Amino acid sequence: MSYYPLTSIPDYFGIDALLTEEHKLIRQSVRDWVESFVMPNIDEAAQNHTDLPNLMKELGKIGALGPYIPEEYGGSGLDQISYGLIMQELERGDSAVRSAASVQSSLVMFPINEFGSEDQKRKYLPQLASGEMIGSFGLTEPNHGSDPGSMETYFKDMGDHYLLNGAKMWITNAPLCDIAVIWAKNEEGKVQGLIVERGMEGFTTPETHNKWSLRASKTGELVFNNVKVPKENLLPGVTGLKGPLSCLNSARYGISWGVIGAAIDCYCTAVQYSKERKQFGKPIGSFQLQQKKLAEFLTEITKAQLLCLQLGNLKNDHKASPAQISMAKRNNAKMAIDIARESRQILGGMGIMGEFPMMRHAANLESVITYEGTHDVHLLITGLDITGFNAF
Ligand SMILES: Cc1cc2nc3c(=O)[nH]c(=O)nc-3n(C[C@H](O)[C@H](O)[C@H](O)COP(=O)(O)OP(=O)(O)OC[C@H]3O[C@@H](n4cnc5c(N)ncnc54)[C@H](O)[C@@H]3O)c2cc1C
Repeated sequence: MSYYPLTSIPDYFGIDALLTEEHKLIRQSVRDWVESFVMPNIDEAAQNHTDLPNLMKELGKIGALGPYIPEEYGGSGLDQISYGLIMQELERGDSAVRSAASVQSSLVMFPINEFGSEDQKRKYLPQLASGEMIGSFGLTEPNHGSDPGSMETYFKDMGDHYLLNGAKMWITNAPLCDIAVIWAKNEEGKVQGLIVERGMEGFTTPETHNKWSLRASKTGELVFNNVKVPKENLLPGVTGLKGPLSCLNSARYGISWGVIGAAIDCYCTAVQYSKERKQFGKPIGSFQLQQKKLAEFLTEITKAQLLCLQLGNLKNDHKASPAQISMAKRNNAKMAIDIARESRQILGGMGIMGEFPMMRHAANLESVITYEGTHDVHLLITGLDITGFNAF
């Protein structure tokens, strides 16, 4: 259970009035699930560096995996604002939970739905939607993070199959995945997507240990050593970097919403604590310096909520540009990490304890502000959009 009443979750500008009844019902059901499944268990999972038990199947049960994927393939056929609200609620619990849902939905199901063959959609999407199957997404490599176009992983056409070699690094859910959607260069040097299945000879997924961030999420490598990939596992619908970049657009959109949840968890905790904790004979919430912090948190959360709602409207109309999504991801991730860090101070020494969420969110958000394009790379995307000059 959260430390604060759920009625204190802010809607300062009455954004709820702009949501449909369906949006609010979806948000409430995910919020309830987070209260019962995530909140009581997340500190222990993060402290012990383990994932929440059966997380993917639980996410499948509440419809959090591929919410906008058509129902005929096991999704829920929901709109983009519903997807955003689901991500917000999940990340109020923990960024690891939202990351699991983001990767499965936007980085694995999205490319199969957009670029996959009919057979691939029918074979993988329903199992991914239910969480029976876990997917991962391999773009980043040991030598190429912000610059994926220089990737070294490649495959050769061997007549009746492709032969895949290379390695991907920093891959969410790699150690758990049943399949990986990976991006590699063909013999012409063009990027294409392949679905690699666990059990294919030469495919291994070593875990990355000792993280201080996203400790309730498994991260690892995808290593391909002469892996024979059947030809039917190539994603036929896309060639070039626009394949993985369109996946990142979808995932970054979800992150923009998700991090609002982490910020809300920190803000609501800080407000509650500031009313209960007394120093100098008064609640610390009565001191101007603490009020300044709380006022700024609420202002930034409200701005982020409005940004996301309009971005969701644009996305529903297929009008959200990659640069707009990039701006929202950068702004909101920075907003959330700043609130996590500052709100921890309001709790004084108690702020470093696991029974309060700030340290966990702050540490998680160090990954969130880095993955799916670093903060600085997103600044360059906006800079390019403003000036037309590529500063990469
Ligand atoms: C927990 C976690 C989970 C992840 N999950 C996945 C996943 O599931 N799949 C996946 O493919 N990847 C994943 N990633 C990888 C992530 O997307 C990369 O870490 C990120 O893109 C940055 O790449 P890098 O770490 O190689 O940093 P680098 O690209 O080496 O960047 C290092 C620094 O240089 C800066 N920089 C780089 N280029 C420029 C430039 N042109 N101008 C100015 N500054 C620049 C960056 O902003 C950064 O500050 C994950 C990462 C983490 C931490």
